[in-house]
Amino acid sequence: MSDVFMNTYRRLPAVFVRGEGAWLIDTAGKRYLDFTAGIAVNCLGHGYPPLVRALSEQAAKLIHTCNYYQSDVSAAFAERLVAACSGAGMKRVFLGNSGAEANEGACKIARKYSLRKYGNGRHRIVTLKGSFHGRTITTLAATGQDHFHRDFGPFTEGFLHISPGDAEALDRALDPASVCGFMFEPIQGESGVIPQDGAYMQTAARLCAERDILLMADEIQTGVGRTGTFLACEGLGIRPDIVTLAKGLAGGIPAGAVLAGEKAGEVFEPGDHGSTFGGNPMAAAAGMVVLETVTVPAFLAEIRGKGEKILNTLRSWNHPKIGDIRGRGLMIGLDLSIEVRPVLEAALAGSRGGPGLLILSAGEKTLRFLPPYIISGAEIDQGLKLLRNCL
Ligand SMILES: *Cc1c(COP(=O)(O)O)cnc(C)c1O
Repeated sequence: MSDVFMNTYRRLPAVFVRGEGAWLIDTAGKRYLDFTAGIAVNCLGHGYPPLVRALSEQAAKLIHTCNYYQSDVSAAFAERLVAACSGAGMKRVFLGNSGAEANEGACKIARKYSLRKYGNGRHRIVTLKGSFHGRTITTLAATGQDHFHRDFGPFTEGFLHISPGDAEALDRALDPASVCGFMFEPIQGESGVIPQDGAYMQTAARLCAERDILLMADEIQTGVGRTGTFLACEGLGIRPDIVTLAKGLAGGIPAGAVLAGEKAGEVFEPGDHGSTFGGNPMAAAAGMVVLETVTVPAFLAEIRGKGEKILNTLRSWNHPKIGDIRGRGLMIGLDLSIEVRPVLEAALAGSRGGPGLLILSAGEKTLRFLPPYIISGAEIDQGLKLLRNCL
């Protein structure tokens, strides 16, 4: 372990050297079953052969070009990504490197869209309490959790946070004279795996359409198949104006995307936005493998099936320390009656001489499951057994 890192993460004591499928191996050779997928990033697991092959081949051909030119692989990836999101109405894409960067881009689009159409004063963006939209000064301002709003001010102006599920508060907040966008996560990830109510989201979509306010889905955690449909919005029956993606988009290579439909696809003009690394050939080559795999209907059905298996097993325990269990696809939250941190530590330690389990928290008392999509049924059983012993 090194201590030259800035002290930003409450890290657990393991140092990894290698991964195989749903497993990670540490410096001592101990194996860990991975229910985190690098926080919904390694969606195809570790060392997925087609991904390794695509990256090796791409590295030998072309690693990077600046965005004043296209590369064959970046163009193919962009086309394929827009096609994967066309059911939700997406038509254009901007490629970046991370979730926060994608959400920044989305906010810029909403503000310019409104400025060009209605002039000054309509710059506000409404988000939900409990949301998480990133760590930059602007995306922290967008994030609807007070404990993120200390120490780093002044924050970017113009964000308003409302309680999710309250349609009247939403109606009041979406003031067409001052608001250009409404940003939400279909399932809030960081704050506890909290799904948005479908009827509430449909009201939001209707109000946004009536008032020409852009509906912006932050699918950075829920997208790319995580909930068993390519976008979680498909499951909610809404068509957003903007979708942001990152995390699983390139299976572990940094990548983010802002997609926009009919309304907002042509807001950006040359000089408005950019990103040096955004969508470079390595990220695009990796992203292609992810899209080729995750858009296959049978693969998405498997994600749903594995999610059901986890939910059903957890429910069958009737465990006294387990409260609510919820989720869609392979994004699952589990409320505990005890603090979650000691459970994470016990899971990491695992059984004596046997494997450990990597699992995430979301808030102080919620466990979060984000396993790689390629995890097997036997591995799910093994991981759940390890978890049960920790409880
Ligand atoms: C992780 C996450 C982000 C931030 O992504 P980074 O790549 O860490 O910048 C934003 N929104 C949601 C919903 C996320 O889960």
